[in-house]
Amino acid sequence: MSKEYDIIIIGGGLSGLTAGIALQRKGRRVAIATSGPSTLNTFSGSLELLGYDSRERPIAHPLDAIASLPPTHPYSKIGTDRLALLTQEAQALLGEAGIMLKGNSAANHWRITPMGVAKPAWLTLDDCLTSDDGTTLPLSNATIINIAGFLDFPVEFIRAGLEQMSVHTSICTLPIKAMQTRRNSQYETRATTIARIMDNDDILHDFADAVSASCTANGNSAKQMILLPAVFGPTGNEALTKLRNQIESPVYVIATLPPSLLGMRLQTQLRNHFTQLGGKIFHDARVTAGTIRNNEITSIATGYSETVEAERYILATGSFQSHGLVAGYRRVIEPIFGLDIDTNAKASPQGGLATGSFFEPQPFMTYGVHTDDAFHPLKSGLPVNNLYAIGSILSGHNTHHQGDGTGVSMLTALAVAQEIEQSFPKP
Ligand SMILES: Cc1cc2nc3c(=O)[nH]c(=O)nc-3n(C[C@H](O)[C@H](O)[C@H](O)COP(=O)(O)OP(=O)(O)OC[C@H]3O[C@@H](n4cnc5c(N)ncnc54)[C@H](O)[C@@H]3O)c2cc1C
Repeated sequence: MSKEYDIIIIGGGLSGLTAGIALQRKGRRVAIATSGPSTLNTFSGSLELLGYDSRERPIAHPLDAIASLPPTHPYSKIGTDRLALLTQEAQALLGEAGIMLKGNSAANHWRITPMGVAKPAWLTLDDCLTSDDGTTLPLSNATIINIAGFLDFPVEFIRAGLEQMSVHTSICTLPIKAMQTRRNSQYETRATTIARIMDNDDILHDFADAVSASCTANGNSAKQMILLPAVFGPTGNEALTKLRNQIESPVYVIATLPPSLLGMRLQTQLRNHFTQLGGKIFHDARVTAGTIRNNEITSIATGYSETVEAERYILATGSFQSHGLVAGYRRVIEPIFGLDIDTNAKASPQGGLATGSFFEPQPFMTYGVHTDDAFHPLKSGLPVNNLYAIGSILSGHNTHHQGDGTGVSMLTALAVAQEIEQSFPKP
């Protein structure tokens, strides 16, 4: 009997949405069951392919460096040549979803984090401030604008970071009258609140006037850049475009501390693209269990209904932050299917979750589900044949120390989409 969906993807973060779009584009019937926020809420505006080597030195040419990764890294399972092609496909997919980006996979550029630190990046949203070489910026004068009462844009850290890149900076804090009447507490203003306020053309116009005036006070407008917190448009960047049209100086945004509107915008654009292609998203649908028989999943259970069935399943539930992995006192588990976990205990002399020094790469950061080379997860040592794992739930990589998180998410998603497509009988 034909099932309602060809593929059900569990988890609607970057990896789940990428796989969903790739498979829906091939004409498959795809549903995404997701619940809870994804890590795109902390997105800095840049996607990373491979930022640092094993000694944490920045990498200039990520595709060249991939060949020297250990065989357990998800990129090694894909293979260098195929990976290079998938980076092109990822970039094309983001473009189709209407996401404007700068950068390419041949050479890293540098993104500026919300804390003002320059880090290697693969692709960056067009509006964001970037550096070609990590030591210089487009102009050597900048006015950093903050909004009075907004605490998630640490301007002093950003100033310190820019001054290390020989940029002379001024800081200017502008009040927005509408904000003062709308908030009850001085601590509750988030980027999302400001974006809603800025959605009003009159308020945006007044704000642009105030930015221009502060810029003029700081000298020649054409020779300085204006740096704003990314507090514009959760669904598109029309507000920023209007603002730019009214300001003479070049305007860039820097991501704020979470929630990141840049990540929310990316997620919205990917979701819209997926549903426009005919995909179905079940929001607030936490998958609680799955039945496995003869190394195949026969159904999964969600809060919505008793059970749901598909031909193939993709696990894209993320790492610890998103509860794709759960750490107890004694062990780490994958909570839906109880899949085998790679704990890579040898990485720590004590054989535990963490080493003594907080800032060192910690063993738990590489934990994840154990998969074969086609990304089938293992349960009790055997691959689950109609299940694939993608994204940050995979073992063998360290998002924070290698700078490869979003690359792993998108590229394993595209690799698995190809595997799945090939696994269906040809009509
Ligand atoms: C704090 C932080 C900041 C980061 N910043 C950057 C950055 O600036 N640039 C960059 O390149 N990378 C960054 N990364 C890494 C990057 O965000 C991730 O590697 C990548 O986006 C992970 O995507 P994912 O889809 O695999 O998982 P996630 O984003 O974790 O998404 C998983 C989704 O599955 C859902 N889910 C979990 N369990 C279930 C269930 N049982 N049923 C249904 N749904 C479920 C979750 O709620 C979530 O929505 C950052 C990571 C973190 C943690």
